[in-house]
Amino acid sequence: MTSPRPLPSPETPLTGTCRCGAVTLTVTAPPIMTAACHCTGCQSMSASAFSLTMMVPLGALEVDGETTLGGARSPDLDHHCCPACHGWLYSRPAGMPFINIRPTLFDDPRWADPFIETMGAERQPWATTPAPHSYEGFPPPEDFPALLEAFAATRL
Ligand SMILES: [Zn+2]
Ligand SMILES: [Zn+2]
Repeated sequence: MTSPRPLPSPETPLTGTCRCGAVTLTVTAPPIMTAACHCTGCQSMSASAFSLTMMVPLGALEVDGETTLGGARSPDLDHHCCPACHGWLYSRPAGMPFINIRPTLFDDPRWADPFIETMGAERQPWATTPAPHSYEGFPPPEDFPALLEAFAATRL
């Protein structure tokens, strides 16, 4: 299986919905990063081997419809879900200038291949991704500027 890489940034605005359609998401700026997370929390919340994320600047997400908090409750991280179908929509880390959205809710998210993968220490042994940057934990904050720059360079 081959796919053209690197994939370009998607055209914005991006639109998507939860599984039942009660919540519509619109993203008005291109993602600044894509990621897969192998942590056991993401495995539980996604009912899969890893979660997928696109990070977009705070303020670039418009939500039409009510959301409810789900997942693990933490003052540092809100997980927003659809109150009808209970799908996991996006997560908002407190105090950060970005929001983490589930890219497979959007139309044709082929551009969402993960650029980084995190929490490899908790990975299912068979679960691999094409991410060129792999971390056993989370990237140290000092790595982020270079990662964001490298991501942007591959998606122009
Ligand atoms: Zn729904
Ligand atoms: Zn995770």
